[in-house]
Amino acid sequence: MSNFRFKALEIAQSRQAIPVTAPTERVGDFFGSNTFSTEVMRALLSPEAYLKVTEAISTNGQIDRAIADEVASAMKSWATAKGATHYTHWFQPLTGETAEKHDAFFDITIDGKAIEKFKGSALVQQEPDASSFPNGGLRNTFEARGYTGWDPSSPAFLMDNGAGGKTLCIPSVFISYTGEALDYKTPLLKALNALDKSATAVCQYFDRNITKVIPTLGPEQEYFVVDRALFYARPDLVLAGRTVFGHSPARGQQLDDHYFGSIPPRINAFMVDFEFEAMKLGMPVRTRHNEVAPGQFEVAPTFEEVNLAIDHNALLMDLMERVAEKHNLKVLFHEKPFAGINGSGKHNNWSMGTNTGVNLLAPSTRPKESLRFITFLVNVVKAVHDNADLLRASIASAGNEYRLGANEAPPAIVSVFLGETLTQALNDLETKSEITVNKGDNVYYKLGLNRIPSLMRDNTDRNRTSPFAFTGNKFEFRAVGSSANSASTMTILNAIVADQLNKFKTDLDARLGKGEKKELAIVDILKEYYANSKQILFEGNGYSDEWVEEAAQRGLSNLKSSPEALSVFVQPESLALFERTGVMNHAEVESRYEIELEKYIKNVQIESRVMGDLAMNHVVSTALKYQNKLAETARNLIELDMTVEAEPIKDILREISSRVLVIKKGVEAMIESRKKANNVEDTTERAKLYATEVKNHFDSIRYEVDKLEQIVDDEDWPLVKYRELLFVK
Ligand code: ADP
Ligand code: MG
Repeated sequence: MSNFRFKALEIAQSRQAIPVTAPTERVGDFFGSNTFSTEVMRALLSPEAYLKVTEAISTNGQIDRAIADEVASAMKSWATAKGATHYTHWFQPLTGETAEKHDAFFDITIDGKAIEKFKGSALVQQEPDASSFPNGGLRNTFEARGYTGWDPSSPAFLMDNGAGGKTLCIPSVFISYTGEALDYKTPLLKALNALDKSATAVCQYFDRNITKVIPTLGPEQEYFVVDRALFYARPDLVLAGRTVFGHSPARGQQLDDHYFGSIPPRINAFMVDFEFEAMKLGMPVRTRHNEVAPGQFEVAPTFEEVNLAIDHNALLMDLMERVAEKHNLKVLFHEKPFAGINGSGKHNNWSMGTNTGVNLLAPSTRPKESLRFITFLVNVVKAVHDNADLLRASIASAGNEYRLGANEAPPAIVSVFLGETLTQALNDLETKSEITVNKGDNVYYKLGLNRIPSLMRDNTDRNRTSPFAFTGNKFEFRAVGSSANSASTMTILNAIVADQLNKFKTDLDARLGKGEKKELAIVDILKEYYANSKQILFEGNGYSDEWVEEAAQRGLSNLKSSPEALSVFVQPESLALFERTGVMNHAEVESRYEIELEKYIKNVQIESRVMGDLAMNHVVSTALKYQNKLAETARNLIELDMTVEAEPIKDILREISSRVLVIKKGVEAMIESRKKANNVEDTTERAKLYATEVKNHFDSIRYEVDKLEQIVDDEDWPLVKYRELLFVK
């Protein structure tokens, strides 16, 4: 009997690493060569245009038409000289993919002559058909049309379309005709702007030279890699991005040998290849290593300004998928492609830098800067404490639900890790009784602030189970899903910190108005903030069952399902916060909520369908065929008067029958639940039904299928097994 699995295995096993050569000998010679960078602009634009553009970038300002025309013309000659034939506005609609609509640089006239096309107007604005992208009800309320607008703060770049031609991609925002955001970037830019304003205002209490605060992001991207042929032999991977069945291999991650092991040659070639391509696009990809699970890897770029880091991450994911094809591999960005094995995240390393070159979350040896450090640190902790549910909502998705709060750790609880020494320092500060400062006293010394930096230096403790960990000079939000667009999380994080810093300023100004000494007033406020938010701090094992219990006692949320988590977006306090910070209006938040729910429903629906199909058409049918073979063997034995010997075979026959029955009933019940859910008009209610009634069948069906995998003859089993998928050579 022909078995697709064995054909795929044969193909996969015969493959060799595809050699990769560096574009040029020195990285510096090709780094950023495919980007319309500041350096390129300096060389190609008039000094006036160059100045206007860079100024607009740093102040989020407008660029007038004459300048836009000049930039467009320079961009076009640069791009065509490098082989580009098309251009496109490149944007991030809420589907989660990146989108582009390619236009040629030339229009052909009736008499067959090419005429130039790319003008400033085309650079600044385009009109893709917004109705083909999700808008979560905004279409009904507002105009269907939308437009994309150039974001000059992220450099245009060249993408190889694989067929020899190149496309000039212009990073853009995507907005409805009436101005509502239809993408990830628009609210993000607003949140970054809000943070800049509020953080700069707070910095002014410490250093008048600080006039701009730039949030920074270094997203570590985890992913799995499987052979392309094996991928296509697993319909669940193809359709749902994850395996819905599969028994754990005898050798999983329990040996912990993958993490430090050498990278398999085929994967290494793929990594080297996409890193070269990434560097050409100006992405500072830095580390390359195996992750804990077999078949799992990580790529981490050096941090950049948040907006750029997010564009680069989206681009990198795209690039990785393209380059993987060339190496006959498939990248899995799903949060939990394999049960029983670690899932994948996108660790969002986040901090704030200033125009004076200071990292606001880096402890300093100078006492005055130390107070500034503590100020930002405590305000972040308070922001996370007060808005933990919003932060949780920002990472909610069907995929991440398997990683957070499912059968396997980590839980969906938001907590903050600061490390023992820092926590101790803050506890000391909190319990310090009223301080009196006399003339000539060093106020910082009296506050004990001079000790913190030296304490911090020896502090190397790391906690890898915390969802939101302070890692020495930045916070690392680890609960973000590997397939997510970080813009969602970064919008929320920057908005809640901006909002908190505004509150801090109000509180401080009130005290200063009463004539209190600045440093003491600051410390008093921080003490109060700390006391009110320290219950979010947790230093222990975040993956343990004890923590789930303790968190519940502390009253911390554990929003396990996505619909539950997402509903936080539309609560009155959230809507008010988005409005206050100018990040999103009510209609925008509500449309986003609607879109996220729809995405969730669609994903669970696909998974449920794939599961039903595979269970019946692949698994049950195979099990029945195998049962037939066994029955024949048993019959033969009985004919030979070997009734006793036939008994164990009859046991297996009975086991297969009972498991098949459970699977069949489970699939039928699941289909019924799906029908019931589909008949519900209200999106929130429908999503809830998918999260509960439909999903409730997944585990029991899977359990029986995985048991059958262990019983049925390996020769007959149709689905590529975990041990085969996970060990690419
Ligand atoms: P680990 O795997 O131990 O968490 P890595 O070295 O792999 O650490 O990744 C750390 C990430 O943090 C990198 O992407 C790095 O660029 C980023 N990072 C370092 N400093 C900052 C900062 N100030 N702001 C944002 N990200 C930062
Ligand atoms: Mg990390």
